[in-house]
Amino acid sequence: MSSIILKNGREKSLARRHPWIFSGAVTKVEDLAGPGETVEIRSGDGTWLARGAYSPHSQIIARVWTFDPEEDISAAFFKTRLAQAIRARRGGPPGEPRTACRLVNAESDALPGLIVDRYGDYLVCQFLAAGVERWRADLVAQLAQLVPCAGIYERSDAGVRTKEGLPHRTGVLYGQPPPDLLEIQEGRSRFLVDVRHGHKTGFYLDQRENRMLVADWAEGAEVLNAFAYTGGFGLWALMGGAAQVVNVDSSVAALELLRRHVLLNGLDPSRVENLAGDAFQLLRRFRDSGRQFDLIILDPPKFAESRRQLARSGRGYKDINLLAFKLLRPGGLLFTFSCSGLVSMELFQKFVADAALDAGRTAQIVRRLGQPDDHPTALNFPEGTYLKGLVCRVI
Ligand code: SAH
Repeated sequence: MSSIILKNGREKSLARRHPWIFSGAVTKVEDLAGPGETVEIRSGDGTWLARGAYSPHSQIIARVWTFDPEEDISAAFFKTRLAQAIRARRGGPPGEPRTACRLVNAESDALPGLIVDRYGDYLVCQFLAAGVERWRADLVAQLAQLVPCAGIYERSDAGVRTKEGLPHRTGVLYGQPPPDLLEIQEGRSRFLVDVRHGHKTGFYLDQRENRMLVADWAEGAEVLNAFAYTGGFGLWALMGGAAQVVNVDSSVAALELLRRHVLLNGLDPSRVENLAGDAFQLLRRFRDSGRQFDLIILDPPKFAESRRQLARSGRGYKDINLLAFKLLRPGGLLFTFSCSGLVSMELFQKFVADAALDAGRTAQIVRRLGQPDDHPTALNFPEGTYLKGLVCRVI
């Protein structure tokens, strides 16, 4: 079988059971394997370390399937891993019902590169690395057996596929094609999800709990929901009794769904204002016209895709948070998020602190927010933590 031999001293991360092997750590590949094929990973002195999937086009040249020499990589192996991940989601946290959740969270569920999200009767998958791409047919067959569902749809059109040398691909993998819009329930609220064209697999499932939290703080508030997408935070603010919600997003299609969500949930459209455009510009305009809010949500897209972009991302986070601080009334609340994995909670807090300082506002952190239970982070894979949020009160 093909083997990947590490340079001397480069086995440390594997000893900590980190699942990634970078090409720079490899001294040679024996018996050249094809993309996605299983390879043995050995240290410089030949000691067996792990078994993984080879990805010749990626900087991450292999991802570990197992650290157990007895474990074969086969359809049965994937069935066990999938069943484990799915079982862990059963029940979920106590409280409100949900019909959509993440079933498989890639590396953190010991299935590197595989995302499976459930939206009611349909599953949506992303195969984001050469290994899961190689086992795609088996994974789909096992999923169909393990989760009774009407259909499975593929959204392998994420940018990271390019890094693996894989083309974008979307379409039906199993069963019925999903309807154009799938209705899901998130606690008391209902949403329509476009799994074909929506962002990611159609919806930001990772913000579920943080959206619900907004309802508790929204009574009577004038709310600004920036980077609204299809309106999740704004909708929960209305359900919590907000007086007025202004939603801002650059996507006209997302705002159209937002408009429908207001009606679907029996909420009063006269309390909602939707603005299509650039949030930076629109917030600046609010500042210039002296408009004020009691509660502001900032949930921007990833500003830092790579280490090189980290400095620029800092300016982005600081600018938008600075504008938000200027728009808040005394006593007002800012729900501010970053979904850039490269920006740690500590760094993010610093960006937000700098923004408050430059806005001339004094503020305190009243809550720290993160990912819900269906988006776990494996302890051996700290990169699995990407979403972080702060609730700040201006005094
Ligand atoms: N809060 C949302 C998810 C937001 S995702 C939810 O809970 O569902 C980030 C959103 O920012 C996307 O909808 C994207 O269309 C929007 N966006 C990206 N750049 C933007 C910009 N410069 N101005 C306004 N919106 C932007």
